[in-house]
Amino acid sequence: METPKNPTAIRHRIREGLSRIAMVLRADDWNRAKLAGINPTQLSILELLEGRKGGLSVKDVALHLAVSQPTATDSIAALERKGYVEKRPIENDKRGVRVELTIEGLSALQAGGTVEGDAEQATGMLGGQEQEELLLTLVKMIRTLQERNAIPIQRMCASCRYFAPFVHADAAKPHHCNFVDAAFGQRELRIDCRDHETADPTLRAATWNAFVEG
Ligand code: SF4
Repeated sequence: METPKNPTAIRHRIREGLSRIAMVLRADDWNRAKLAGINPTQLSILELLEGRKGGLSVKDVALHLAVSQPTATDSIAALERKGYVEKRPIENDKRGVRVELTIEGLSALQAGGTVEGDAEQATGMLGGQEQEELLLTLVKMIRTLQERNAIPIQRMCASCRYFAPFVHADAAKPHHCNFVDAAFGQRELRIDCRDHETADPTLRAATWNAFVEG
């Protein structure tokens, strides 16, 4: 039990803070899902599939959402009945299917995406520097979770083969994206970029070292 004289470890209090924010995020997701006429798990599946050429297997959907395969299968079936996703066979795999977003699914996603939730509004009330620091902290935490196999590789710059960190002298735009051949700054680091291509482990490690060493 925490008292003023006996604070719990800072890691514990940060986890408590993150869990409060996660609660608000869940409520925000319910509101966005309601606008799209679906539930939050189904909304997460549409978000996950958006911009993924070739879709994802049911197993990958389950992995990304940290749900069981039967739960993913049920949610995908419900979305399929609404016409929001479709399944396509995987070449050379008789039983495998890939799940893809349809035009109708994209419209539903956009209907739910018009609302800025409470968590996003609270983030907007932080100062510019605070936002940038928070983004960097999140990138570092997500990267650690990836390396521990707690979550799959996310479509972040930090794991992308096109990312060249700190290659420019301009402090406002030190990084380079080789996909679009353009410089960009810390605040533009992506968490879920549709043009992301996962670098091989050696390149990922080298890029990360260059990124944290600045
Ligand atoms: S393609 Fe996307 S993820 Fe990759 S470096 Fe460029 S902006 Fe970052």
